[in-house]
Amino acid sequence: MKPNLLIKNALRILTMDDQRRELSGVDILTRGRTILMIGKNLPEEDARVLDATGCVVVPGFINVHHHLVQTLTRNVAAVQDAKLFDWLTYLYTVWRHLTPDAVAAGAEVGLAELLLTGCTTTSDHTYLFPGGKSAELIDRQIDAAHRLGIRFHPTRGSMSVGLSKGGLPPDDCTQEEDEILKDCERLVKAYHDPTPYSMCRVGLAPCAPFSVSAELMKTMAQQAKKWGVGLHTHLAETIDEEIYCLERYKMRPLDFVESVGWMEGNAWFAHMVHLSPDEVRRLAQTRTGVAHCPSSNMRLGSGIAPIREYLDAGVPVGLGVDGSASNDSGDMLAELRQCMLVHRIRTGVKSMPARQVLWMATRGGAEVLRRDDIGRIAQGKAADLAVFDLTGIDYAGSLSDPVAALLFCGSSHRTKWTIVNGNVVVENGRLAHHDEDAIAARANKFAAGLLEKAAAYKA
Ligand code: ZN
Repeated sequence: MKPNLLIKNALRILTMDDQRRELSGVDILTRGRTILMIGKNLPEEDARVLDATGCVVVPGFINVHHHLVQTLTRNVAAVQDAKLFDWLTYLYTVWRHLTPDAVAAGAEVGLAELLLTGCTTTSDHTYLFPGGKSAELIDRQIDAAHRLGIRFHPTRGSMSVGLSKGGLPPDDCTQEEDEILKDCERLVKAYHDPTPYSMCRVGLAPCAPFSVSAELMKTMAQQAKKWGVGLHTHLAETIDEEIYCLERYKMRPLDFVESVGWMEGNAWFAHMVHLSPDEVRRLAQTRTGVAHCPSSNMRLGSGIAPIREYLDAGVPVGLGVDGSASNDSGDMLAELRQCMLVHRIRTGVKSMPARQVLWMATRGGAEVLRRDDIGRIAQGKAADLAVFDLTGIDYAGSLSDPVAALLFCGSSHRTKWTIVNGNVVVENGRLAHHDEDAIAARANKFAAGLLEKAAAYKA
């Protein structure tokens, strides 16, 4: 039985409840996996007390787009300055050497980084299964998420159209469509938990319009409905993709996904950089979610997504760090800051206040993942909390508005505590139950091995 937690003396609590209340002088008491009470002078009996003097408490952040395996191929010199299609074409030749052990090592780093920077729920999108085999890569990620204690939404990605059929990836990085479907069903049956406070929900996620067939997209939409799971893919990320869709399908990317049954309210799309005003309205009407990945879009020169327009139209928007090969970090709080800053360039200084970004990273993400049990600090919701200590040098002078200070200031983005489902998983800025140095060393070993194998590989 996990101990109750009593968080006392917080400088400010950002609840993200429906009134968006910000509280001072109150405590938060958790019991089991939920928030039991918020109020003044709550009883300490049986609870572990966390003294949050000088700290801001926020709902744990929700990351709605990631590729954990890519933590092993961050900052690869050959593609530091490449745009998406060139970047992908090169990295496929490295990722084809991934093994289950390497995938597990990459996941540990990516998940640890998220927890350390305030994220308590993350999705993942794994789509390359080397050698055409479904070698239990996602199983290993689910295991890592379970061990590290993060709430996890893995999506079963896929690529079925290789170079020889007019797609982007090499043929040996793709799989047969019946094999993909079989593995989707296996994962949903083995791991998908639709109950409240679930720690694992599986989704279906063909990689992108340029690496799967229209038939597979259609089948996935039908199966997702049948199994009651979410749908996810990359969409409208680059102009190159738009050209590909216009040439291959005679449709713009959004028309294409609509034509294969993906606009029925259970899908969320990563990036969504290049959309017309009419397309924005259609997203809002269908409650289709957007995973906004500002760092990745900047890193690959893809463009600035029209997020202000999405928010004004009522499109559900969450934040994603995206894969670590195009970020090249999984620092969630840094992603919030990037989001706040980049839109001020495109739509003006008033268009993206800190609290708007905080909303996207919590309530927005929860809506995108179709959950109402996370993303806010309120009685009966999951006990997912991030506690940031603002007493150090990097926040000094900023405390007139401690909530916004999280985005405007700070250099170390580590939490003092990260709490997931009532469990303390980050303690005083370090993983509570795992050896960070060992995790980093393992990942470095696999990362070096991957690049060696890629250099020695003869197709
Ligand atoms: Zn991505």
